[in-house]
Amino acid sequence: MLGLMQDHPLLISSVLEHALKAHPQGQIASRTVEGPMHHCSYADIGRRAKQLANALTALDVQPGDRIATLAWNGYRHMELYFGVSGMGAVLHTINPRLFPEQIEFIANHAEDQYLFFDLSFAALVEQLAPRMKTVKAFIALTDRSRMPAIEVPNLLCYEELIEDQSDEFIWPVIDERAASSLCYTSGTTGNPKGVLFSHRSSILHSLALCTQDGFALSSADSALLVVPMFHVNAWGMPYAAAMSGARLVLPGASLDGESLYQLMRDEAVTLALGVPTVWMSLQQYVEAHELDPAVDLQLNRVVIGGAAAPRAQVETFENRFDARVLHAWGMTEMSPLGTVCNLLPKHRYATLDERLDLQAKQGRSLFGVSMKIVDAAGAELPRDGKASGHLLVKGPWIASQYYRGEGGPILDDSGWFDTGDIATIDPDNYMQITDRAKDVIKSGGEWISSIDLENAAVSHPAVAEAAVIGIPHPKWQERPLLIVVLKAGKIASKEDLLGFLESRVAKWWLPDDVAFVDALPHTATGKLQKMKLREQFQDYRLACR
Ligand code: ADP
Repeated sequence: MLGLMQDHPLLISSVLEHALKAHPQGQIASRTVEGPMHHCSYADIGRRAKQLANALTALDVQPGDRIATLAWNGYRHMELYFGVSGMGAVLHTINPRLFPEQIEFIANHAEDQYLFFDLSFAALVEQLAPRMKTVKAFIALTDRSRMPAIEVPNLLCYEELIEDQSDEFIWPVIDERAASSLCYTSGTTGNPKGVLFSHRSSILHSLALCTQDGFALSSADSALLVVPMFHVNAWGMPYAAAMSGARLVLPGASLDGESLYQLMRDEAVTLALGVPTVWMSLQQYVEAHELDPAVDLQLNRVVIGGAAAPRAQVETFENRFDARVLHAWGMTEMSPLGTVCNLLPKHRYATLDERLDLQAKQGRSLFGVSMKIVDAAGAELPRDGKASGHLLVKGPWIASQYYRGEGGPILDDSGWFDTGDIATIDPDNYMQITDRAKDVIKSGGEWISSIDLENAAVSHPAVAEAAVIGIPHPKWQERPLLIVVLKAGKIASKEDLLGFLESRVAKWWLPDDVAFVDALPHTATGKLQKMKLREQFQDYRLACR
């Protein structure tokens, strides 16, 4: 027997329509590429998203057509999020930090029909335009007076494109399983692969973000998205903000510590979301200028995801910023959110140390994400917080395959997706990532977690950043090498660092050597590029012991 409830598809256009009725005056604050701040309301975004949808219709954009962006976080990008997906086309956000060859590959693979770009990427577009075979026109996200002087055929101006269009548009009622947006994973190996999100997956995922055990997003928040809108839909926040009425603060291209601090102060930010490397530069700025963020800012939650949140970083947010860290884990294939580290009632009286231990974990799965850990043979391992194994997931906002079937099937016979991460799960459902399967250090038949070692190393006051890789060893198979970047003006020797680690990790985990470098390589999404480091240190030999 079917239930007798109304059957409305879950569509991104319905999120915008809700925002227009429920909180039309909710604010979106953007730092523009040109420099000045721009403030507008959800009503403005809605009006202009409809003008954009009419403009795209006039350009003969069809349902399912891919419309690309090369853009920072800003109000025009928000308009594209709602206008493009709302009209039934697919928003393809391209990561401008990828190599030009990768961008070219992605745009051709996706068969993008139009490309909208911020002025910062004008030269890149000029370079790539002749090689983007399917793109019919390139639209600069600016007004006529600031149009770039570049040699690009079919160069259009965004403001001109939409200005004469009607701000009335009836959103089509489409299948909620229709594609809404497309993101390519950064592809540390092989070509990037496309993850094709649907309206339904995006909305279910965004609802989960709003829950109390998610990010508890509400109209009381002013949310700073340091996570780029070209990286997994800014973790779903543009939709979740429109659902909840949260104020959005979009930092544009200025992601340095000083700019972020100013924005947090001037826009009364309560919730900020980003990867550990951006928080590193924010915290360094605060330290260098002896600022008092607990007094200056109204920040009360910081979401750290994309890579493991170092304990020292969590502690600084708690102690100096008076802000609670929500450690979160996920991946592009998961829209991206899988787990969030919130506390349970039983942790209310935990000491700071106990709490920091807990916050080192990536957290508990949200409803909608099933997870389990398995051994090499695929047998499920106990959820005892000790056994560690391959982390598998399934759920309605997790990919079933890559765009155009690239890479073949990605689910096992029972529908589980292997995340490529190694983790433990404890009886309270807290998951902790030990490592990526390919980064874990295999020493004498046991595993050493490179993440744990890195976190321990960055809690040393002289260390800015650390990476640990496995170096082949004749007796133990692999042994850890610690590679560190020291903070400006600070000194520490190999002996200092190993002595510091001695009390923090098991003796047999201690790195066999320490290398000092000026900088560590990062991927386009801010992760340590271990593959590059392994190449860099491939001739490195450890003294046998
Ligand atoms: P990519 O485009 O490189 O695949 P993703 O953002 O999809 O980028 O990367 C997902 C991976 O990032 C996860 O599988 C995991 O290894 C790592 N990751 C994400 N969040 C965390 C976290 N909080 N702690 C540790 N690792 C994380």
